[in-house]
Amino acid sequence: MELFTYEDMKKIDRKELGNMIPLELFRSVRLIGMYQGLPMNGKNTTIAVGRKIGSTLPVSKIDEVLSHFKELKIGIPTVVDSKDDEYLVKIDDCFCKGLPPHPGNKVCDLEGAILEGAISRFYDRRVMVHEEKCNVNGDSCCEYRIKLL
Ligand SMILES: [Zn+2]
Repeated sequence: MELFTYEDMKKIDRKELGNMIPLELFRSVRLIGMYQGLPMNGKNTTIAVGRKIGSTLPVSKIDEVLSHFKELKIGIPTVVDSKDDEYLVKIDDCFCKGLPPHPGNKVCDLEGAILEGAISRFYDRRVMVHEEKCNVNGDSCCEYRIKLL
C-alpha cells in the first residue's frame, strides 16, 4: 500500500492559507530546482516523478486525463489532431506561459510524463508522450504528441 494517495493530497486543513500555493513556487521547484539543479535538466527525475504522479490520478480514459490536467491547473489541453492511436494535444495557459523565451529549451517534460503515467493506468501497452513544442522554446504554444504503442 502507498504511504500517500492522490486522495490524501486533497485533504487540506489550513485555516489562513487554504489550498493554494503561488505558481512561482511550482515554477521554482520545476525550473530552478529540477531543470537547473539536477543533472541533464532533471530528465530522468522528471520522467520518474511525472509518471508516478500520473499513475495515482483517478482516470480511466483520455478525456478524464485531460480534464485532470486542467483541474490541476497545469494547463488547458485541447486535442488538435488524432489518428489511430496517436493524439496531438495543444496546451493553452501552460504553467510556463510568460517566462522569458530560451530557444533550445523545452521545459514541460514532467507534465508530459504525468500524462504518460495517467494513461498507463488504463492502457496496457506502452505509452509515449513527446513534448513537441514549448512556449519557452519560442514556439507558439506547448504541445504534446501522445502515442499509444
Ligand atoms: Zn509549457
